[in-house]
Amino acid sequence: MNIDLHCHSRASDGLLSPAALVGLAAARGVDVLALTDHDDLSGLEEAARAADEHGIRLINGVEISSVWRDELSVHVVGLGVSTDDVELCGGLERIRHSRAARAERMADSLAKAGIPGALEGALTYAGNASLLSRTHFARFLSDNGYARDTRSVFNHFLVPGKPGYVEHQWALLEDAVKWIRSSGGTAVLAHPGRYGLPRATMRELLGEFRDMGGEAVEVLSGSHSPEQFREFAMLAKEFGLTASRGSDFHGPGESRTELGALPLMPPGVTPVWQSW
Ligand SMILES: [Zn+2]
Ligand SMILES: [Zn+2]
Repeated sequence: MNIDLHCHSRASDGLLSPAALVGLAAARGVDVLALTDHDDLSGLEEAARAADEHGIRLINGVEISSVWRDELSVHVVGLGVSTDDVELCGGLERIRHSRAARAERMADSLAKAGIPGALEGALTYAGNASLLSRTHFARFLSDNGYARDTRSVFNHFLVPGKPGYVEHQWALLEDAVKWIRSSGGTAVLAHPGRYGLPRATMRELLGEFRDMGGEAVEVLSGSHSPEQFREFAMLAKEFGLTASRGSDFHGPGESRTELGALPLMPPGVTPVWQSW
């Protein structure tokens, strides 16, 4: 079984429509796909119809932007969430609202640095302002010659201390976990290798996440190295968390890992899908 439990469509900052994304997953041999747009469930209906057509199984997912210990931005993937849970939908709505306000301040900051029109520019890559993320601004900056490609944008812009960076009041990590669980979903700590935490702090994060009700961790992530696959497999076992597998695919040519292209789960861990 080819299982990919983390990817993005145009409902957040992916390049493909939900239907096109599911079509690509099917063409790439994915059997089970979770669509996990940032703080948004609006792509799931279209994705479900496409999954029916292609005969693949779609898991309703979301990726919630949250904050741990007041400073570290941590992503939590929810798998198998319900799309009409009041608590989850209300929480996501608040995040999207503050995302739109942040986008305006990001554009103001870029304008002060001599880059006009960033809000309108970024909006050409997103359906509306409540979806705007750094990725959309990065596409605008690279397509307009301010950086070589979307990745090198982050050497000069949109990060702390550089033009275009604006802090965001995300949800608290414990709230993100709570909303996911209240809607019947499983909370998965996304791409832990990306947070750049020292070993001891990573262990504290995993322990606290589990104690809040988190159940799984992405062992196989498109942003992990093979060494990190092994490292997080060990940590998953140690902390009694199940293991997830997700490419974090955003679009052709933009992601390091293609849909469904990750290796098999390392032996000895319990996959998050074991109980499905
Ligand atoms: Zn993420
Ligand atoms: Zn993601």
